[in-house]
Parts: sequence; structure tokens; C-alpha cells
Amino acid sequence: MPELRRDPVTERWVIISEERRGRPSEYRPAEEFAPLAHCPFCPGHEAQTPPTLLSTPGPAGWQTRVFANRFPALRVEARSGITSTELYGHSDGLGAHEVMVESPLHSDDYASMDAAALLAVLTGWQSRVRDLSRDERLAHATIFKNAGAQSGATLSHPHSQLIATPIVPPAVLDRMEGAARFWRRTGHCVYCAMALEAESSGARLVWSDAQAVVFCPYAPRVGFECIVSPRQHESQFEQASEAVLAGVAGAMSRLFGALREALPRVSYHLSIQTAPLRSAPSASDHWYLEVLPVLSRHAAFEMASGMNIVSTAPETAAAYLRERLPGTQ
Ligand SMILES: [Zn+2]
Ligand SMILES: [Zn+2]
Repeated sequence: MPELRRDPVTERWVIISEERRGRPSEYRPAEEFAPLAHCPFCPGHEAQTPPTLLSTPGPAGWQTRVFANRFPALRVEARSGITSTELYGHSDGLGAHEVMVESPLHSDDYASMDAAALLAVLTGWQSRVRDLSRDERLAHATIFKNAGAQSGATLSHPHSQLIATPIVPPAVLDRMEGAARFWRRTGHCVYCAMALEAESSGARLVWSDAQAVVFCPYAPRVGFECIVSPRQHESQFEQASEAVLAGVAGAMSRLFGALREALPRVSYHLSIQTAPLRSAPSASDHWYLEVLPVLSRHAAFEMASGMNIVSTAPETAAAYLRERLPGTQ
């Protein structure tokens, strides 16, 4: 059974889930994906995955399909509740871990999928988050994607994942506390402020329209880090209207078209940064999508200091991406 453990110094929680060691390509050299004779995510192989929880219609019978992860990091059957000793905190590995196959096409990716296909991914996840938020034992849902052999992905067929946790993850708490501090100091949402500044200065802006702004953050953690921020100020992804999601999908389509030209075949990590489940609307917090390309391995200094060394300035990255936006070459 997976479990959660709390570090007594940093008070950060970790998930211990040894069951995931049995995944198909774990410990395989990460340089390239091994060719799979039978991809479990391709149409016609639905019986090789757990049963479908949600699907959207498409030419192959479905456009997107969601099911429980066969190697879950956390499980809904676990008991809830945190026990603490003087030194450590512990909780059973309660949670949910789901997979979405994002396209019936094995070789699709976000650059080749159009805005309608990207919107089907966002609306599919939104409906799963709305469903899971009814389970009061769950505190937060993280939607994320590992794409490419260097990202830790184990299958190349386009897919993303959701992990719902019984605690609010430390990175989310840190982000919300930082945004609240900025709001107390200035009376503004820091994410709205960063998007507006990117647009007015232009230096770190990749693309914007009436619905969304794409920019490289001022102090990125990795080269070519990008944020896709809906213009509508809203703290929860699951509350966003279809029009807002369509705007984000259109912006993603532009960004991934530019990334394909700028960094061909780059691996990346993507996540939706959003407020805890069932939380009240917040003036200081703002949901968005972040993309972290995998361009270098973090080394001892980064691990020891928590300070990343980034070799491409965000102004350079944004200019490079702007020149490669689809339809502008
Ligand atoms: Zn496939
Ligand atoms: Zn905002």
C-alpha cells in the first residue's frame, strides 16, 4: 500500500509507492522509447487498460479516454487520516491516480493536435476534477504530463495524468502563500500582474489574445519555461468556462507549434497549477498551465541549494519562440 510521509525539518510530504517499480519501462535507458509491438493506448487495445471512466467521442470511437492508472502512486481504497509522532507524520496512500489518452493517434503530440483536440483534453480533465472534488477526503488534484523520453514518460502515445491527494501539495501551498503575500502588499493578483507586465514590456511575451497570455517568467527554473495564463482571473481550473478553456487551448496550440520549431523533439513537463478542491474563489490566486522543457539535468548544486542555473534568459527564449509562432514565418 502506498503511503505519505512528512519530513520533520521541511515539513514537506512525499509519496512512497514501491508498487510503481513494476511499470513497463522503469529503469530502461531513457534515451529513446523502446518500440512497442502493441501500444496499450492505441484504439482497439482498450481491454489492455483499466475500464474507461470518461471518454469524449471521436473518429476512432473516442478522442480522449480516462481510466485509473494501472500502477497508481495513490489509491482511493486507502484510509484517510494523518498520524504523527514527535518526529514524523504519516498517512495511508489515499488518493486517485488516473491516466488520459489524449488522442487516438499514436504519433500525435500537442504540436500536431489542433485547438479542438487540445480543448477535449482540458474539458475531459475538468470533468474528472469536478467529479473527484465531491470526495471530501481529497484536498487537491494535480494534472500533469511527462512528454518525451527525457521527461520520465514510459509510453510515447500522447497521455497525461491526474493525481488527487489527501493533502494540499507543498509546492501548491508555497505558490498560494507567495501570491497572497503579493496581494497583501499591492492589492493585485501576481499572475495577472506578470501577464500584464509581459504584454506591456513585450520582452518576455510569446503570444496573447483576448482570452490568454503566453509568456516566459522573469525568473524561470529552467530554460524556455513557459506559462499559459487565462486572462480571466479565477483560482480554480474546474470553475473555468468552456470559452476560457477554448482560449487556453488556442494559446497552447500556438505555443507548442513554436516549441516544435524552436526545440524539435524536446521532452517537457507540463502541469495545471490550480487551487485546492472546493476552495472559495481567491482574489490572490490564479490557475494557469506551466511548461518546463527538459534541456539539462539538475545537478548537485541545484539539489543542495534549491537555486537553478538557467542558461537561456527568458527574454531570449520568448524572442526565439515569437519568431517561430505558427503562421508567422
Ligand atoms: Zn499507441
Ligand atoms: Zn489573476
